[in-house]
Amino acid sequence: MSAYTGYLLRVNLSSGSTNREPIPVEVQRRFVGGRGFGIRYLFGETDGGIDPLGERNKLLFMPGVLAGTKALGFGRWIVMTRSPLTGGLARACGGGNFAAFMKFAGCDLVIIEGKAERPSYLFLHEGGTEIRSAADLWGLDTEMTQKALQEKHGQRTQTACIGPAGERLVRFATITHGTRTASRCGVGTVMGAKNLKAISISARPKLLEPVDKEGFDGLQKEHSTILRDHKRRVKMHTFGTTFLAHMMRDAGILPFKNFQTGNIEAIENLFTDAYAEMRKGTHGCYNCMTRCGQVHEVKEGPYTGAWSEGPEYETIWAFGPQVANTDVGATVRADRLCDLLGIDTISTGSAIGFAMELFQRGIITTQDTDGIELNWGDHRVMLDLIHKIAYRDGFGKLLGEGTKRAAEHIGKGAERYAMHCKGMELPAYEPRAAKGHGLSMATSNIGGSHMYGYARQEISGKKDPRPVDRFADEGKGDIAAYNQIDKGLEEVGILCNFADSGLTYELLGGLYATATGFDELREVPALRRLGERIVCLERCYNVREGFTRKDDTLPERMLTEPLPDAGPATDQVVRNLDALLDEYYDYLGYSRDGVPTPEKLKELGLDDISL
Ligand code: SF4
Repeated sequence: MSAYTGYLLRVNLSSGSTNREPIPVEVQRRFVGGRGFGIRYLFGETDGGIDPLGERNKLLFMPGVLAGTKALGFGRWIVMTRSPLTGGLARACGGGNFAAFMKFAGCDLVIIEGKAERPSYLFLHEGGTEIRSAADLWGLDTEMTQKALQEKHGQRTQTACIGPAGERLVRFATITHGTRTASRCGVGTVMGAKNLKAISISARPKLLEPVDKEGFDGLQKEHSTILRDHKRRVKMHTFGTTFLAHMMRDAGILPFKNFQTGNIEAIENLFTDAYAEMRKGTHGCYNCMTRCGQVHEVKEGPYTGAWSEGPEYETIWAFGPQVANTDVGATVRADRLCDLLGIDTISTGSAIGFAMELFQRGIITTQDTDGIELNWGDHRVMLDLIHKIAYRDGFGKLLGEGTKRAAEHIGKGAERYAMHCKGMELPAYEPRAAKGHGLSMATSNIGGSHMYGYARQEISGKKDPRPVDRFADEGKGDIAAYNQIDKGLEEVGILCNFADSGLTYELLGGLYATATGFDELREVPALRRLGERIVCLERCYNVREGFTRKDDTLPERMLTEPLPDAGPATDQVVRNLDALLDEYYDYLGYSRDGVPTPEKLKELGLDDISL
């Protein structure tokens, strides 16, 4: 009995072969599961310099080690590959039931190799694994695809699929399961490049049993008791992440008009109350007590009847303040459209805001935009551009390349207005207003992500490991590294960021140890070393792709322009990123060029890695 199935499923779409292989105990012990398995196999089985959209790239799907057990809030799954957006590591995380069903189907990891000759889907069922034709699915949106596969294989079939955008290789395409998506880094683009429309699972839900059942059940009950009355859980359940918009606005963290200012007075109605009035239900992932998903339906205005599970905070920003839109109904419509067509809401909204700023400055005109006037706040244009991006139509084709490539193509100084790190668009956090959070986004191995190491110390006043002044120009390196390590160790689980209320290291380590039988995970230093090992190997992956210190940076705007009209954050600027980088590298034992030293690799048990 163990929380592991003990196997990985390897599928080669070029040869049509499918094999189940044991995962060695040494790998289980060193990397534990989830993101740990992902980076171990991605690094070990692919070469540097491969084409992200070529046959030699691999696409890895991971449930966490606690998926499919009784543990609460570990229902998420991760996809890793080489990113077509950044050229570095891609990691995207989705929710729903898919992780648990990967485990029920007997997989701790699914590795997709090669490229199918024709549109195909993968069907995992009790009799085995089949690669089937997806000729009748190609072109369908993500909802229709899932419905069609349920009609074919039964209502309980669980599917993760791409939409039209992934088929067309939009660089920030997503993978959708239910109404949840693994959104970032272009993981859906890689799936599209492999001609893989979907992975469907038909399996009997049978809970995985931990090694130490009694110990595990005791810890699980303790966690459940803490969670039930935890203030943050109740807030998440009641509002989802919509309440964050107000909180970030008041802190000056919410960017406005492509990070030009923090001024959001004009869009006051895009916040919590407006969404509360539209709420018609909640939705949760597998075995989650928090159930943060908020289903909204528009009750008035031009988008009456539109609904979505969401938008959550990032998407409210992407289709609200980022483009100066004040119509809440349009944000719901935009969220749903992106889910159906299969594009990342953050990168999409960011690309549209970028284009609007270029239009504002006269860098592009209607001659570049298929005749469309890109005026701030025009939600009809915003929705039109979502379609154009997903279908790679006209000007949308350029925006679907991501802001970095689009800016390079446009020239005329457009690069200054592309808000990305390493080629991936920044989320709804102004780095000038939370500099440790900004440093984490600058150094993140997947590019501009708030989820690689969320600085709760700056955003919500967390005191652990120490309180932090978010405006201070130094003393952030250890915090950024601490949070990234924290996320790494949580994502062997794979624990959801919104469901971790009250979960201590001791409790988390205990759950891992009793589930796997690896007792050392009860010790906090061993747990943190595990997180650090994962982050370090991810850094090695990027080093192998040629990333150096120069890539650990923020858009020029954050480094040179004091932030206007941002309440308490007004006039803030990231004055000395270089000093922050030195702190960060020193804390992690990397060279000042951002490369893990041989001593650090040895300390983390990665001495088989040569850079
Ligand atoms: S908190 Fe929300 S996103 Fe996280 S596992 Fe629960 S329902 Fe899913």
